[in-house]
Amino acid sequence: MTKDDGNPDQSCTGVERLAEANLPTELGRFRIIAFKSIATGEEFPVLVKGLLEPDTPTLVRIHSQCLTGDVFHSLKCDCGLQLEHAMKLVEEEGRGVIVYQQQEGRGIGITNKIRAYALQDTGQDTVEANLSLGFEADLRQYECCVDILKQLNLKRVRLMSNNPEKIEALQRAGFEVERVPIEIEPDERTFEYLKTKKDKLGHLLENINDKDNAQL
Ligand SMILES: [Zn+2]
Repeated sequence: MTKDDGNPDQSCTGVERLAEANLPTELGRFRIIAFKSIATGEEFPVLVKGLLEPDTPTLVRIHSQCLTGDVFHSLKCDCGLQLEHAMKLVEEEGRGVIVYQQQEGRGIGITNKIRAYALQDTGQDTVEANLSLGFEADLRQYECCVDILKQLNLKRVRLMSNNPEKIEALQRAGFEVERVPIEIEPDERTFEYLKTKKDKLGHLLENINDKDNAQL
């Protein structure tokens, strides 16, 4: 269960576009498109809005599935709020793409994520817990997302992300990338989680610093 460090961007050999339909939501009206990895069978639901053209800088979010945050509104992370914020931005802009990447718990799966939460209940942070379970801090890979964005005719991406790894993965794949920060205001429940993401995973979180900690 480790990332293939020697060849981290080569495990997706293409995606198929299999189905699409309209999806009206509380946060906007979208098309929803189903892509599937030819190599692994992994499914990728993608929300799309507006006309996508290579020359037009286009809002994109690659959202990693977080069942606890996205569906159950967990207060242990900011995932659900980030997804809602991204959908609102795309709706306001009238154009954009949200790829829903089904890599629960930064790639370790829901059961192991709950095991990691149990370790967090004993005082470990989100990275320490993953390492205690024998996983790397972050197992996610983005190569199928790259294929999807290419099939959607995108070249210039305004990536809604705080994660430098995602930005670099798209740049390596030949996209022109501008980062659009997607920061959720920390509160006393999410501060430690977000601080760990900043300190140990290198996420670009301007709202997280020691001054904030003193205020909470
Ligand atoms: Zn989450």
